[in-house]
Amino acid sequence: MSRERLYLFDTTLRDGAQTNGVDFTLSDKQAIAHMLDDLGIDYVEAGYPGANPIDSSFFSERRKLRGKLTAFGMTRRPGRSASNDPGLVALLDAQADAICFVAKSWDYHVRVALETTEEENLASIRDSVRAAKAKGREVLLDCEHFFDGYKAKPAYALACAQAAYEEGARWVVLCDTNGGALPHEVERVVAEVCKKIPGDHVGIHAHNDTEQAVANSFAAVRAGARQIQGTLNGLGERCGNANLTSIIPTLKLKSEYSEKFDIGITDEKLHGLRRVSHALDEILNRAPDRHAPYVGESAFATKAGIHASAIVKEPATYEHVAPERVGNRRKLLVSDQSGRSNVLAELDRIGLKVDKNDHRVVRLLDEVKEREAIGYAYEAADASFELLARRMLGSVPKFFDVSYFDVKVEQRGQNGGAEVLTTAVVKVKVGDEMLINAAEGNGPVNALDVALRKDLGKYQKYIEGLQLTDYRVRILNGGTGAVTRVLIESKDETGEHWTTIGVSSNIIDASFQALMDSIVYKLVKSGAPA
Ligand SMILES: [Zn+2]
Repeated sequence: MSRERLYLFDTTLRDGAQTNGVDFTLSDKQAIAHMLDDLGIDYVEAGYPGANPIDSSFFSERRKLRGKLTAFGMTRRPGRSASNDPGLVALLDAQADAICFVAKSWDYHVRVALETTEEENLASIRDSVRAAKAKGREVLLDCEHFFDGYKAKPAYALACAQAAYEEGARWVVLCDTNGGALPHEVERVVAEVCKKIPGDHVGIHAHNDTEQAVANSFAAVRAGARQIQGTLNGLGERCGNANLTSIIPTLKLKSEYSEKFDIGITDEKLHGLRRVSHALDEILNRAPDRHAPYVGESAFATKAGIHASAIVKEPATYEHVAPERVGNRRKLLVSDQSGRSNVLAELDRIGLKVDKNDHRVVRLLDEVKEREAIGYAYEAADASFELLARRMLGSVPKFFDVSYFDVKVEQRGQNGGAEVLTTAVVKVKVGDEMLINAAEGNGPVNALDVALRKDLGKYQKYIEGLQLTDYRVRILNGGTGAVTRVLIESKDETGEHWTTIGVSSNIIDASFQALMDSIVYKLVKSGAPA
């Protein structure tokens, strides 16, 4: 059976740029556009030329993409001609393959927001589409508030869409701009639109205000639409846009869609989806959402022992798709709730061969339970668990010893001129060599980290690529008083991330344990000799 082509349109760099707290620089935009293009997205909407200097400069140069680079902007203003509207002229001059216009399709908005007549709005749509076509651009029309408009006055909403289609727009995109539409409504309205405009010219642009943007996108596809607009990681104004990071694997891995449709993303690119999702978080300096479907750290994590023993025997018992397909992995959480099967599976993943009846496995499990009772959380700290396991199985060399450390935080000067300085001194014994390192930092943990990693003698070359990427502190209220739990996330030159943990009544001590684990983990991973 031949499959129909379904197109993906990404608006991370336009709608996604409206997310609270997101500010893309020009080089961020370039990097993300290339990343999306490499993934296999058909349309990359990169911004609104004329609206801000970054977007204008992005579109001032020709950029070669495999897919279609798309510029966003408004249709001509009411009462002006196309050539006499500076906004439209700037948009037509943008170096883009396609232009996506946004236009009102709700009569109420035409009257109140645009303060014009329904006829003038239709004329504006026609003129703008015609002008962009004359410039050789592919044209899309985003029909703003289409679903509300359709509920209020179906004939007019439809007339807006038809005006663009008849004038030669490649796509008419039905937008649920305020995100309030529900899947059954979307399915009904899109089906009605597709009676007038062929579905392979109809797109959906859904927002997530009822947390159904992904469901609404699929409802539209079921009703005949053949283009989905969305963003990476569901970025977007308010509650976000339809999340392409969830839509893509669903289209590829669920037979309901994969048997009917082809998309521009190959199986091989799908393997890189988790990496792409995390790369965007990295650019935004955000921690990835652990619970994100398909790509999150916890998307294929199992905690309870009974599920774990089944999952080891037959992964399909608990997994709706194979995690490897999207570049994720199965994770059996080792925690005080876990049974022996979690621990064995985790040891197997790490590559530690042990017999399942080995008494050391039981000891390791007891150790995990005891430590978790005092505040450790190994399910969040895979590298510390690996070290604990390797130590109990006797395979972690004693690389170095820290015999002393001292951290000093002092205020110098007073009031307006006061400065807070932090210094740390660490004495490390590597083999027969005693090394004394001192460093300044922007806080006690930073100073300690810099001092510890300044000179590790013969091991220095193994930790050169080590970087701390996240530091999290939680104060836990145990029975005997507060304890501090520190989680440190690190990465290295290979791009691998790992998390280590420290627990103590003293925050510096807890941080130091987590730092030490991170360094030792890196040495083990790099195969540093004892
Ligand atoms: Zn939008």
